[in-house]
Amino acid sequence: MTIGLKGPGMYIQGEGELDKLGKYVRKMGNKFLLICSPNNKKRIGDRVRFSLKNSEKTVEYYEFAGECSKVAIAEAVHLAAANGCDAIIGAGGGKAIDTAKAVGTNMGGIPVIIIPTIASNDSPCAGVAVIYNDAGVVVKALMMYRNPDLVLVDTGIIAAAPEKYLVSGMGDALSTYFEARACYRSGAKTMARGTCSTTALTLAKLCYDILLKHSAKALEAAKAHIVTSELEAVVEACVYLSGVGFECGGLAAAHAINDGFALVSQAHKASHGQKVAFGLLVQLQLEKALPEEWNTVLKYIKMVGLPSCLGDLGITDVQEDDIRNVAKAACVPTQFTKNVRADITEDEVYNAIMKVNAMGGHT
Ligand SMILES: [Zn+2]
Repeated sequence: MTIGLKGPGMYIQGEGELDKLGKYVRKMGNKFLLICSPNNKKRIGDRVRFSLKNSEKTVEYYEFAGECSKVAIAEAVHLAAANGCDAIIGAGGGKAIDTAKAVGTNMGGIPVIIIPTIASNDSPCAGVAVIYNDAGVVVKALMMYRNPDLVLVDTGIIAAAPEKYLVSGMGDALSTYFEARACYRSGAKTMARGTCSTTALTLAKLCYDILLKHSAKALEAAKAHIVTSELEAVVEACVYLSGVGFECGGLAAAHAINDGFALVSQAHKASHGQKVAFGLLVQLQLEKALPEEWNTVLKYIKMVGLPSCLGDLGITDVQEDDIRNVAKAACVPTQFTKNVRADITEDEVYNAIMKVNAMGGHT
């Protein structure tokens, strides 16, 4: 059996850490390209520039328009090359970060630094970028030359953002253990080019345990926009443990069902983490989870305000065809549902979704 482990070269997390950026990247480059939205430039641009300047580094700026597309990647590569940039910084929620990773890879693997401005998903630490077309449809998942060289999480910045983003991050992180466990049991291959190791499974379990223990207080802190030890613990779970956990532990039905909901227009406003949380409930049905486990997960989902029924995802007019399309998409051979059990059928997934909808809707 082969196991594989991968992760970011360095992970730094703490309040005010952004102001030490220049110190951390001292050996990574001299001229940086910062990729982020105009809004995030306003939030952190001056601090990035000032910190780099203190280390005698300079920074150019690429204005990210909102989509991690081939065009955006090519434009940023061109700008970086024209200005002689030797390292890339991506700051944002998910798509700007992914763009930075792709730019670094397309420039021959120059250093990439990731600064998440919200903790809404498990992308920052991962060595994969999801590329979209201009219509917002996924084109492919691009595997990186290597994971980001530095992921720098300033919890002061995370705490300043609306708490809904952290709730989405909790949804994405909640599934990490269950998906890794499914892969561990089935021997599925992970993105770290091996099977799920006991190390990855343990990190994923730690992620779940931290969420159960600290989420209520972390959410209070996020609502008050203050950094507490509970918030720090949950951010570590959502950004580091969930990222390394999914890449080294593997994905299963929860993420496949999330992908399937892309086909339902009523669910388009639901975030990745919201869809993954609902997908996890479906996975637990497919696994015939013990009542105690089901109840713990459902209680958590309701406590933090993640979706437990189709209506919560925005699907108020439930059409059988739509839900069958989700089930069908989740069962194509390339999808991760097979990592739960190889012979899961579309009918099983459809029935599981409808059962969750019926059970999850009740308090
Ligand atoms: Zn995810």
